[in-house]
Amino acid sequence: MADSATNLQERLQQALGEGLRTAEPLRLHTTFRIGGPADFFYVARRPERLVAALRAGHELALPVFLLGGGSNLLVSDDGFRGLVVRNACEQVEFDGTVAHVGCGADFLGFIERCRDRSLAGLEFAAGIPGTIGGALYGNAGCYGRDIGSHVIDCTHATPDGATIETRPAAWYEFGYRDSRLKRDPRVLLSCRLQLAPGDRDAIQREMEEKLEIRRVKHPAWRTEPTAGSYFKNLPPDWQMPGAKHSPGTRRVAAGQLLEECGCRGLRVGDAVVFARHANIVVNAGQASAADVLALAEEMKSRVRERFGVALEEEVMFLGARPVLPTSR
Ligand SMILES: Cc1cc2nc3c(=O)[nH]c(=O)nc-3n(C[C@H](O)[C@H](O)[C@H](O)COP(=O)(O)OP(=O)(O)OC[C@H]3O[C@@H](n4cnc5c(N)ncnc54)[C@H](O)[C@@H]3O)c2cc1C
Repeated sequence: MADSATNLQERLQQALGEGLRTAEPLRLHTTFRIGGPADFFYVARRPERLVAALRAGHELALPVFLLGGGSNLLVSDDGFRGLVVRNACEQVEFDGTVAHVGCGADFLGFIERCRDRSLAGLEFAAGIPGTIGGALYGNAGCYGRDIGSHVIDCTHATPDGATIETRPAAWYEFGYRDSRLKRDPRVLLSCRLQLAPGDRDAIQREMEEKLEIRRVKHPAWRTEPTAGSYFKNLPPDWQMPGAKHSPGTRRVAAGQLLEECGCRGLRVGDAVVFARHANIVVNAGQASAADVLALAEEMKSRVRERFGVALEEEVMFLGARPVLPTSR
């Protein structure tokens, strides 16, 4: 390692201690099982350690990326030149129907804890992988519902770790798979979520029902690596030619368009469009990020040609983009 890099590592180690890893393969930390090495990698188990990592990165002028469960991410084959901080701050406390949740808490694990206290509200989301922080960042949801509508407030740090603030839900501008954090970055440390008194058995039944739907429709991400839906659904005012519903009533599934374009089963290298869902890409072995991007480009161009609409990625990309052969 060159002197300056050694020096950087020593200074980071001074700030973060022995838990600092170098050249950590990011494929080990994403549900896609794709991604090259991060120069530096640190797991923060307490909010003050997370903030210390942000401050150290800022002081050393290192790009910092905040990782949750890695379930909505495609990481470059070249990895990430900087410090990846994985949020493992998982503390959860309840005060009546309000949950105070560390943003590194696992989403499903949190829903199970709510069920055990007969607190209803988020069971519709059972089976969405990842952390509460990742869910808030993209306002994760399904069946027309989302986590953002349960937020009372969140506590976040500025990316340099210098300031910690608590802001009400409205500040985060939660929208469809969207929040203000995509435009105005902050690192979420914790949040307060509003739940409602419920019946434990009814909550359990709904969770089982939702998990079963996912088991049938989606890949089992632990054995069939994927990042879930690749593209966002289309706005309600977009009408598919010949569709039965009227514009303005509900979002049009991107999967429906991709299906019409014959995308199921398309393949580039080991990146494959899932056999049971045309908006899901799976890593069927040794897929590279470049394979996934080339496949996604083909899916997009088919939809553009057939329907004249540009699909927008839901999966986030981290790192340097490879140069792909020119798309059609
Ligand atoms: C099989 C499968 C099914 C899925 N189904 C759904 C679904 O039904 N609905 C849905 O919405 N999504 C779904 N997803 C996508 C994904 O699970 C969600 O988007 C999830 O909420 C991402 O959380 P994460 O912790 O894994 O985030 P990551 O993938 O780790 O990160 C995603 C983004 O969030 C940012 N982020 C993470 N934590 C924080 C934080 N504390 N503060 C600020 N920014 C942060 C990261 O920097 C990154 O930009 C699915 C994925 C899979 C694999």
